[in-house]
Amino acid sequence: MEICSVGGYNEVGKNMTAIKFNSDAVILDMGFFLPSLIDFEESGGDRSNMSKEGLINLGAIPNDSVIRSWKDKVRAIGLGHCHLDHIGAVPYLANDYNCPVYGAPYTMDVLGSMLRDDKLKLRNDIKIANPNSIHKINGNLKIEMINITHSTLQTCMMAVHTKQGTVLYANDFKFDNHPVVGRKPNYKRLKELGNENIIALVVDSIYAGLDRKTPSEKVAREMLKDVLLGTGNENNAIFVTTFASHLARIKSIIDFGEKLGRRIVLLGRSMKKYVNAAQNSNLISFSDRAEIYGYKRQAKRKLKEIEKNRKDYLVVCTGGQGEPGAILTSIADNSLPFKFMPEDHVIFSNKVIPTEINKENRDALEASLKNKRVRLFKDIHVSGHCGREDLRDLIKITKPQHIIPAHGEVRMTSALKDLALHMGFDTNKVHVMKDGLKIKI
Ligand SMILES: [Zn+2]
Ligand SMILES: [Zn+2]
Repeated sequence: MEICSVGGYNEVGKNMTAIKFNSDAVILDMGFFLPSLIDFEESGGDRSNMSKEGLINLGAIPNDSVIRSWKDKVRAIGLGHCHLDHIGAVPYLANDYNCPVYGAPYTMDVLGSMLRDDKLKLRNDIKIANPNSIHKINGNLKIEMINITHSTLQTCMMAVHTKQGTVLYANDFKFDNHPVVGRKPNYKRLKELGNENIIALVVDSIYAGLDRKTPSEKVAREMLKDVLLGTGNENNAIFVTTFASHLARIKSIIDFGEKLGRRIVLLGRSMKKYVNAAQNSNLISFSDRAEIYGYKRQAKRKLKEIEKNRKDYLVVCTGGQGEPGAILTSIADNSLPFKFMPEDHVIFSNKVIPTEINKENRDALEASLKNKRVRLFKDIHVSGHCGREDLRDLIKITKPQHIIPAHGEVRMTSALKDLALHMGFDTNKVHVMKDGLKIKI
């Protein structure tokens, strides 16, 4: 068996891994490296004019030329969840492979709306693969989706079953035993696989260096409750910003907003996209609990009304990274018709994705809000990624022969190697890769 670390092994982003067993190969995830893309677009670049090669040269999508010789052997592309660092490159790369794309309903709905927004087309067959289902690809290969918890809906670990044994792909996850939306991790199936034969575990190492078990989403819910129900906000505007794909978080915000007796308004294009996808997939619907406006024109009209009756509303919006053009950023720079008053509330239920441009944007946003004497509540958030102690539990449950740390810079993948060595793995069984390498197992 050969495994190729196509992307996501030098950086957090552009995840893509390929596995070849005899004359059959499978690709898992095809993601964006968002910092390159954001830099490019903020300096005036237009992605819609870019070729695949252009995006590869920009560093925005994985360089799949390293598996050129496997091209005719690829039988399936599997997508683990809907985040852009896992599916963003599908529209640019998947067409080159004559095979179907497998993903959970929510993942595929988000992919579909991405394709429509960017006016792109896929030639590949789309195969809807529900969490906890197994799909026969041919006589030699099966792909299995295993329900796991993360920071968006229907996240799955993917198991590729071959005659030689199984490769378990575990990007991204945390072990959340109290998820706010969706089911608990499928520990039962992971244990079963651990008692069979997992040849290799390809696994999320972004926080392998942090000595912790990542707290449950229930903890973030309590933090939100504390801020929303426990501060003097009767007469003030309340704006909460979070990741648009984080439906569990949005649900908690709506729950407590209703407790405050406020009308809930969701604003922003991506907010509408991910909330609609959840409704399309029959997972969770907010349409009878919140007004949802994706277009700037509609947002403008609504904000004028909220401005006059600020204590009657709670707004959930985009802009938590301070990204130009998002709702909160546009209000702060006075390009939308809403004026913050002193002591209005802005709650950041997210974390800044730590790139230079994000930090600058977010600092500028906070400075502008403080200038308007707004009250800021930051870091009302818990991560969706496993810490070192979640990883230890996963390794114990699944008992892999080999470990391939993924989803991170080398300092992160090396931290996972360090954990594996502490757990008694031989150094030649833990493979710290770089983008574009292959190993034989
Ligand atoms: Zn993710
Ligand atoms: Zn990711």
